[in-house]
Parts: sequence; C-alpha cells; structure tokens
Amino acid sequence: MERGTDRAVLVTGGAGYIGAHTAKALKEKGFLPVVFDNLSSGFREAVRWGPFVHGDVRDRAALREAMSAYQADAVIHFAGLIEVGRSVQRPDLFWDVNVGGTAAVLAAMQDAGVTRLVFSSSAAVYGQGSRGALETIPETAEKAPASPYGDTKLAGERLIEAHCRAFDLNAVALRYFNAAGADPSGRIGEAHEPETHLIPLAIAAALGARPPLTIFGDDFDTPDGTCLRDYIHVNDLAAAHVAAVELALPAGAFEAANVGTGRGCSVREVVDAVGRAAGRRPPHAVGPRRAGDPPSLVADPTRAQGLLGWRARFSSLDQIVADALRWERLPAYGCGARAPVSSPVSEAAE
Ligand code: UDP
Repeated sequence: MERGTDRAVLVTGGAGYIGAHTAKALKEKGFLPVVFDNLSSGFREAVRWGPFVHGDVRDRAALREAMSAYQADAVIHFAGLIEVGRSVQRPDLFWDVNVGGTAAVLAAMQDAGVTRLVFSSSAAVYGQGSRGALETIPETAEKAPASPYGDTKLAGERLIEAHCRAFDLNAVALRYFNAAGADPSGRIGEAHEPETHLIPLAIAAALGARPPLTIFGDDFDTPDGTCLRDYIHVNDLAAAHVAAVELALPAGAFEAANVGTGRGCSVREVVDAVGRAAGRRPPHAVGPRRAGDPPSLVADPTRAQGLLGWRARFSSLDQIVADALRWERLPAYGCGARAPVSSPVSEAAE
C-alpha cells in the first residue's frame, strides 16, 4: 500500500464519468486519487491515475480501511445513483445508496480522522419552485427538488452540514448543472447505460448509432419553446473539485456552490450544435414533455468563482459537443461500440 509523496484523496465513484475526469485532474495537480467504486455503473478501464479499491459506498468499514491504508487527506464523494426517472420508481434504492452511502462516508471519515469532504451535489436540489422560468439560480434559491433523486442530494447536503457543525469536519457541496463533454485525450468519456442525456443521444442519432432523438416538449415558456439547461464541460467540473480540495476552510465550515456557466442553451440549440460538429443534423421529432423536467435550470456561478477562484474554461457549447463527438467516434469506446440495451438500470452505486 505505497502512497508515495502525493497527498491521497479518496474518490468514491471514481470509475464513473465525472469521477474519472476528476481523478485525472487530481493526478495532474500532484494528488494521488484512490478510486473506491463497486463498478456497478463505472468502468475499471477508467481507473488510470491511481490505485483502485473495489467496494460498496455503504460499507463503512471498507471505506475506513481505504482511507487509513492510503492516509487520505480528503474525500470526494461521487458514488451514487443518478438517473432521475429511475428515482421516481425506486426511491427506496436512491435513499439507501445516496443518503445511506453519504452517512457511511461521513462515519468512515470520523473513524479515519479525515476532515475534508467534497460532495457531488446537483442542480436537482432546486427544482423549479416558484422561480421564474428564465431566472438564473443562486445558492440561496428555494430548494424544491422535483424528484427523489433531488431529495437525496439535498438530504445528503443537510447530513453533511450537520456533521460539519457537530464533528468539526469541513465540506464543499458542488451543485452541478449539466455535465457534458469528454477529456480531449480520448481516454475517458461519458458512457451511461441506459443513456438518457441529451448530448450523447443527439450525437448517437447524428452518427446513426441510435434512433432519432425525441425532443421532450417544445411548448415551454422559453425563447424557442424547448428547455434551457446550463451545460458544463466535465473538465471544468473536474477542476472545480480539485479547487474545492485545495481550499483552506475552518473546522466546521460547510459551503455549497453552483458549478455552471451562467448561460442557458435550449434543446434546439444543442441539436444545431451537434449538426454543425457532426456534419449531419441529428434526425429528431418533438414528443411530449418528460415528467419532472423544469423549463430552465441555469446557474448563477458567482459563488463558485469567488469561493474557488474557478471559472468555466472549456464550456462553450461548440467545444463541449466537439469533445463529446470525438469520444463517441472512437471505435473502442464510442456509441457505435456500445450496443443500446434495454436492460434494467443498475441498482447499486456508481
Ligand atoms: N432531452 C430531450 N430528449 C432526450 C433527452 C433529453 O429533449 O432524449 C432534454 C430534456 O428534456 C432536458 C435537456 O434535454 O430539457 C437535458 O436533459 P438531460 O437528460 O441531458 O439532463 P437533465 O437536465 O435532465 O439533467
């Protein structure tokens, strides 16, 4: 169990999409990312920048052992279930893995004497609430999650905040908007199964690897009638995590910050951007709205900029789509290599 001279950071869910990009960013900044993942939806091949520990995020003893073995300085906690639609059908699983997993991580940190936590939270904690359709969202906005998934992220934050106060931990919760894109190296990228996210589905439709895209509603109160989202390049997200690990915080502090660009893009703008990049507009048709989709989710990222000294650098829609397209075209990993399947969603942690 050599940890070398690098500061070790335990990355739960580090074999998943955002976790793997963050592990790479940590390594590039001189940290040793120790990935803790049960590979239920992550990929062993995505663990390339440090040791791998196979384990379930609800397993407090295994977490404690990994933190102690590598003398972790900090934990970044990604592991969890992410599919919003599935959370409506199986709230029991989402509370067990997402909230139970967070409780286990906090308990193991106390056992092992680790005091810094960075938590993978989500814009889903906001929902639409009484916010106007086109308002950007500051951290102080009303919290009205529209799904059990959002409920579990908000509950996780509250649990963490209480632990910080009671036990002198300190933590940063990063509320992501729409993670997208891929590392330009082509070594890691997005690969969910089932894939439900707009950009990979639009690219796969343009490349003929999946059926035509369905636009989920064009009668929203937005400029072109389709939903607005704040797409953030996964490498910008990864950089925000590294900045959060490096932040000096007093004992007991809990901070929450939005990680987004402040700019909303509509579904139709994404379709157009994919068409420009791929040289072929994704075939598409307008269908009904998807349950639980707020018309607009756009960050006010001022707090993250001030707190973390962070700014989105790679998140123009064209850059995100170009990097995602490069990944999807790879013969080994891209959408052509991954036959669409209709099997049930994996039921364990990412
Ligand atoms: N969307 C769509 N068709 C799809 C998938 C997504 O029209 O096949 C829309 C969805 O309604 C939302 C936006 O694209 O407005 C982004 O959805 P995604 O699932 O990528 O992320 P979410 O905002 O749900 O986290």
